Amino acid sequence: MESGGLDKRTLTLLGALPGVVILVNAKGVVLQASDEATTLRLVRRGIITSVEVADTAAKCVASKRTSATEVSLVRPSKRRGNLDLRVRAIYLPGGYAALLLDDLTEENRLTAIRRDFVANVGHELKTPVGAISLLAEALEAASDDPESVQHFANRMKLEAERLASLINDVIDLSRLQGEDPLSDPETIDLNVVLESAIDTISSAAHAKRITIVTSCEGDHFIEGDADQVSTALINLLNNAVAYSEPNTRVAVAVRVSDEMINVDVKDQGIGIPEAELSRIFERFYRVDSARSRVTGGTGLGLAIVRNVCSNHGGDIFVWSVEGEGSTFTMSLPRIVAARPDADSAEAGLVDATPREVDRGT
Ligand code: ADP
Repeated sequence: MESGGLDKRTLTLLGALPGVVILVNAKGVVLQASDEATTLRLVRRGIITSVEVADTAAKCVASKRTSATEVSLVRPSKRRGNLDLRVRAIYLPGGYAALLLDDLTEENRLTAIRRDFVANVGHELKTPVGAISLLAEALEAASDDPESVQHFANRMKLEAERLASLINDVIDLSRLQGEDPLSDPETIDLNVVLESAIDTISSAAHAKRITIVTSCEGDHFIEGDADQVSTALINLLNNAVAYSEPNTRVAVAVRVSDEMINVDVKDQGIGIPEAELSRIFERFYRVDSARSRVTGGTGLGLAIVRNVCSNHGGDIFVWSVEGEGSTFTMSLPRIVAARPDADSAEAGLVDATPREVDRGT
């Protein structure tokens, strides 16, 4: 290859740089290209395939100045979507340009998610804040009437609670998006986490005379962050209770299947229309906003569950029929952990459920 105008040290340096590196001459001929440049099919038969990238190199050589731009290319592989690249063209004396390309795709994707999230949060916060401000005005106007004062004060309290749970869910979700529970995981006894999640939800279930039944045979250990898993289970149980009529039953079953532990939360509630099933895990998506408002829902519960599952290398599934009920299944990779009382397990003294915890009466 013709690169006689460049000394060996420059060529060695360019060859040692990480990422996508391309060296071109004044005629646009590629003299050196890193493996990544070839993998991305940016270089073929000695020329740059992208017009924008080639133009950036040509401008750099013509002006003898470093230039930078951002380009979006169609991915060469079967993976869908575009590839966003930052292109820096550095002029090298003798009429050469060294192109250094950084992949911005992931960074841009996260920026877009954050931007949408902030816009949605702003929109969602406006509703309770607007309501509180109107109620404060009403309260002021009704100051002579103790009954109305009581009424407006109660409604203000409800809106403030709604605001608080929205803020909590937003904090939960943004924390989840930045954390990797598998980088420094703890061993989690799922049975213990589940028991405490059921305890948390028991007073809401009791108020609606909903019975929670558990079936959880043997030991179930996973790796990750116990607080996150607990939040996800509470969200599923909360929904099961919130979207069910009084005097019904919520069944929680823990099953082992190959490498995974599946936790089913099954209710006899209102169910979810088939057309909505693919959308319920989106942030702020509610099937029936009016109902969600009554139940105090934020529209973030299932988005949190989905994030927790994927952060733990698992998944969330839903089965539902309108008017019959729903089953949400959290599927998480299981680990085999040593039990402190391994002897009793060998002796067959494991807790053989199903056991019924009647928390409704
Ligand atoms: P919300 O805070 O509104 O409950 P979620 O993200 O937890 O938000 O759920 C999204 C929507 O999915 C809910 O608004 C509700 O319409 C529906 N949904 C969730 N769980 C159930 C369930 N167990 N039964 C019926 N509908 C449900």
